[in-house]
Amino acid sequence: MTQHPGKPAGLSDPHELDLFEFARSGRQAAGVVRVSQLPRMLNEVPAEAPDRDTGFTWQAEGSTQPELQDDGTEGPQPYLRLAIHGAAWLECQRCMTPYSQAFNVDATYRIVSTEGEAEEFPLDEDEVEVIVGSRQFDLIDLIEEELLLSLPLVPKHEVCPEVHESLVSGAAGAEGAGDEAALDEAGEGEEPERPNPFAALESLKRGEPGDKKH
Ligand SMILES: [Zn+2]
Repeated sequence: MTQHPGKPAGLSDPHELDLFEFARSGRQAAGVVRVSQLPRMLNEVPAEAPDRDTGFTWQAEGSTQPELQDDGTEGPQPYLRLAIHGAAWLECQRCMTPYSQAFNVDATYRIVSTEGEAEEFPLDEDEVEVIVGSRQFDLIDLIEEELLLSLPLVPKHEVCPEVHESLVSGAAGAEGAGDEAALDEAGEGEEPERPNPFAALESLKRGEPGDKKH
């Protein structure tokens, strides 16, 4: 078998990946997937988004680790590492306008052969997820799954543009124009911040006037 350096060897179609072989051979692959290829993600993108078809770059890497198998012998346990980076437009639940949400996923999966095996695996292992591998594994589907899991619980701008005062709930001093901190739902932002001595020291070091944003 000839290997072409620079080409993602063995990755013909990320929709039909031999995941066991991918892991066993320690292969790597990378690509770009667009929101238009991910119907469930596309559902989350509001119609008035400036760009409904943003892209995500992804990198996948297979590996094995010697582990005790079910039959009591030590064997190579297949693993997959998957990284996804990109952004999609979502609807801000505070001001109901679209905003660009960044996605940064870095996940490691233990690849098992059957659903039963997956259920046996203790779920409190929070660093490693379990997936059922196959010889025609849909990597794009896994990428979509990860993106959906990474959706913010309440999608919203960090700071909404032109928030109407009526939307700023419970902030008595909301008319204090320019006081972005008043948007803080806890209302603590209303009190003038006491300068943190360390922050003051920091700004002295940087020669800046007191920095409020932190
Ligand atoms: Zn907003």
